[in-house]
Amino acid sequence: MSLFSSYNPKPHVVLFPFMSKGHIIPLLHLARLLLDHRATVTLFTTPANRPYIVQSLSDDDITIIDLPFPGNIPGIPPGIESTDKLPSMSLFVSFARATKLMQPNFENVLQKLPHVTCIISDQFLHWTLESATKFGIPSLGFNGMSAYSSAICQDAVGLLPLHESPDEPFTLTSFPWIKVTRNDFVYPFTERHPSGPLFDFITDINIALSNSYGLLVNSFYELEPQFMDYLNRESKPKAFCVGPLCLTRLPKMEPVLHNKCRWIQWLDQKLAQGNPVLYVAFGSQAEISSKQLTEIAGGLEESKVSFLWVVRKSGTELGEEFEDRIQERGMVVKEWVDQKQILEHEIVQGFLSHCGWNSVLESICSEVPILAWPMMAEQHLNAKMVVEEIKIGLRVERRNGIIQAESLKNKVKELMEGENGNEVRKKVKEVAEAARNSIKDGGSSFRTLGQLIEEIHLHN
Ligand code: UDP
Repeated sequence: MSLFSSYNPKPHVVLFPFMSKGHIIPLLHLARLLLDHRATVTLFTTPANRPYIVQSLSDDDITIIDLPFPGNIPGIPPGIESTDKLPSMSLFVSFARATKLMQPNFENVLQKLPHVTCIISDQFLHWTLESATKFGIPSLGFNGMSAYSSAICQDAVGLLPLHESPDEPFTLTSFPWIKVTRNDFVYPFTERHPSGPLFDFITDINIALSNSYGLLVNSFYELEPQFMDYLNRESKPKAFCVGPLCLTRLPKMEPVLHNKCRWIQWLDQKLAQGNPVLYVAFGSQAEISSKQLTEIAGGLEESKVSFLWVVRKSGTELGEEFEDRIQERGMVVKEWVDQKQILEHEIVQGFLSHCGWNSVLESICSEVPILAWPMMAEQHLNAKMVVEEIKIGLRVERRNGIIQAESLKNKVKELMEGENGNEVRKKVKEVAEAARNSIKDGGSSFRTLGQLIEEIHLHN
């Protein structure tokens, strides 16, 4: 059923994703979903991000407007328009702050667009929500996190500094079955008086969001009802679950049968041999030390499990010897891959993941259990959710800040061959079924999106 077929004129939605793959991808799925329901979509981006967007969405269907990315930002090399390409994630806040310099250009173009029903933009681009308010256009902030992580961060504020030791567990007020430590949270929110650039940035986001129409959450209600209810009870604006967005197909990203990339051909071979594969990838931003990379290589090699490892930013090379030694069982890829296509391959039966929220959702929807290895941002909370709350994964063990090869080997075997692995594999299939139901006609996410656009339409 098309949600907006009776609307005249069609709703016109403006989308503005933040400049990083983990934020662009879900909004491309949302764009596709809105187009499939007969909305008109205009998407803002920057010149360097345009090709990826055009490759994923046909520009016959959608208007893509690229605004120049500001130059001369201290610390940011010229030409870098995405956080995936930053030399270090320590530059994240400077990058995110600099996007505000695009506001005059954004407003100039916005004023000239035909009647805009609403603006949906990434909450990191909080200034777009301010622009919407200025022009009287309803706006929705897109939150790339789980409701679980957002709710826990909110509930823990104020409790964190009371605990001197970073790894001393304490119980949350609103979720008494959950124990967290200061290590699960991001500096400076672990401090008694948080301050500094990240704190100011998050404060600006919260102010802009509180003046917006709502918060879009890329999740489905049945996955995290208590946490969605908490957000809607304790904070403004109203939160709406419209995911998992990754279940919306982007036709241009679908595998082309007669032109398979070499890693998909390799997975086909493993399927023919009946060798289950562990997929190993840590998203688009994670930085991994050379020491840690060596331990991962050792653990994967010793586990004797077949694996496909996507190595992105790293300080060192793995060396040809390693690749020669593991060639029967393993494949190392150093290019951008279509992760969803890999996870959906039936021979992939485990995912060693940093637990970025998109990766968690993609793993759930592909019925693949997770071996959780959180690295930064809210990934520690996502990992907790995966392992303790929805029980679709196991967790690696860190000792002295590093995951040792021996320990990784044991966890990989446990996930791929052990009893605990079987339990979480069974559970992830159930959760995947609920995810698919939520986006079907009449499902919770389907209904929420329809009601939301109708509310905004009446509000206009
Ligand atoms: N991704 C991909 N190919 C790659 C690396 C990442 O398709 O080689 C996609 C992945 O499927 C996910 C997104 O990039 O949709 C990464 O988002 P996530 O939230 O998992 O992690 P982040 O990169 O933001 O840390």
